[in-house]
Amino acid sequence: MKLAILLRIAVMIALAVMLFSVLHKRHNTTRNYCISTAFTPSQQDTIRQAVKVWDYGSRTPRFVESCSQYAIQVKIGTDAEKEYWSHQFDTSESYTAAVFDPEHNTALFFMDRIRSNRELLIYAGHEFGHSLSLPDLDDTQPAIMYAVARQEVLNDFHLYQPDIALLCRNQICQAQ
Ligand SMILES: [Zn+2]
Repeated sequence: MKLAILLRIAVMIALAVMLFSVLHKRHNTTRNYCISTAFTPSQQDTIRQAVKVWDYGSRTPRFVESCSQYAIQVKIGTDAEKEYWSHQFDTSESYTAAVFDPEHNTALFFMDRIRSNRELLIYAGHEFGHSLSLPDLDDTQPAIMYAVARQEVLNDFHLYQPDIALLCRNQICQAQ
């Protein structure tokens, strides 16, 4: 009787260890990010939601929120940063609402240029794409990595085929 219970416990432990290792191997790498508390709680939640869009298969790095140890900072840009980055891009037709600074691994958001959480969602999704070294897309298909926020993507936020193609080009894609 006692042996049967011990055996059952041993089996349960073995299953737990297997499950843990399977879950752990699901993603190749993790990348920590820290959201500035200067964002409102609902803006922070929007950014967390945006980051999840890149959870695509086991080869894409997994973003984990952590402010004790992090690779990527998510901040509200200052006026000086806004001016600096606006001059880096051709702003004749569009203005810079968000940018990913690869040198400092920082996603900057210029909140006076972002009109809603819906817009913040797509900008955050886009900038986290840059943190995966994905470039801007300039074709006409809807995509998160399209350089300008598009209405289709605002209405339906998910990875589009051109985004997945970029992941695959960087060898961080895998069929779901
Ligand atoms: Zn971009």
